[in-house]
Amino acid sequence: AQSRGATNHGPGIISYEDIGGLGKELQRIREMIELPLKYPAVFDRLGVEPPKGVLLYGPPGTGKTLIARVVAAETNAAFFVINGPEIINKFYGESESRLRSVFQEAQRQAPSIIFIDELDALAPKRAESGGEVERRIVGQLLALMDGLASRGQIVLIGATNQPNALDPAIRRPGRFDREIALRVPDVRGRTEILSIHSRDAAMANDIDFARLAQLTPGFVGADLEALCREAAMIALRRVLPHIDYQRGYIPYETLINMSITMAD
Ligand code: ATP
Repeated sequence: AQSRGATNHGPGIISYEDIGGLGKELQRIREMIELPLKYPAVFDRLGVEPPKGVLLYGPPGTGKTLIARVVAAETNAAFFVINGPEIINKFYGESESRLRSVFQEAQRQAPSIIFIDELDALAPKRAESGGEVERRIVGQLLALMDGLASRGQIVLIGATNQPNALDPAIRRPGRFDREIALRVPDVRGRTEILSIHSRDAAMANDIDFARLAQLTPGFVGADLEALCREAAMIALRRVLPHIDYQRGYIPYETLINMSITMAD
């Protein structure tokens, strides 16, 4: 899968505003990824190497994929996704050539972000995985990263729920050498995420996000999004009997009434 940030702009536009509860983490991600993608000269002047690889780790649903997509959209970088298990299983026998072609294309279209989801599937501890095929694939990925003369114009973002399952070689300097932990959001984070996911909804005046956040400890971003969706569906079901399915479309007046009823 591949897209350029600019093509995301429009109705489905995503931005930093879509990410809740990750102030400090986002700040670091922007320094590490956005700065070199946008202003490579800054790094040249400082004489430091911009990062090639940033590892995002944390439980499922904490926003790793979301962050990568947002950074690509905000920096107008071409966005490439590699799914760890998919490249191993679906492209069995072609995994290395797939990897090579993604890197080639990313270089051609730079600035680019290559997002590797479930990096642990692609680069498990070699000692444990043992298999010849896995060893070759990790070796290919490392060689491709080492071969990137990118000046920050190609950044890899790796995501994993299990950082300790990773081959240590993948975390050496010049590879995924920066790490950011994404945790289950605290009550403030949950409040922010709830308001993000309901900002386009018609809502009753007495909805108290802070209170809802207090009632949802342990909920990650994906859970809170599902909660908002479910709440919207319940509101919708309340007004559904008023919709005339026979006419095959929802008349404009009904839509207006629906949004009024749902906000009641
Ligand atoms: P996985 O490890 O399962 O791939 P992930 O960490 O990549 O999970 P995402 O796919 O980014 O999680 O999150 C799923 C959805 O949950 C996002 O598309 C978004 O709608 C919502 N979400 C997650 N985290 C946040 C957040 N911090 N702020 C707002 N929405 C969030």
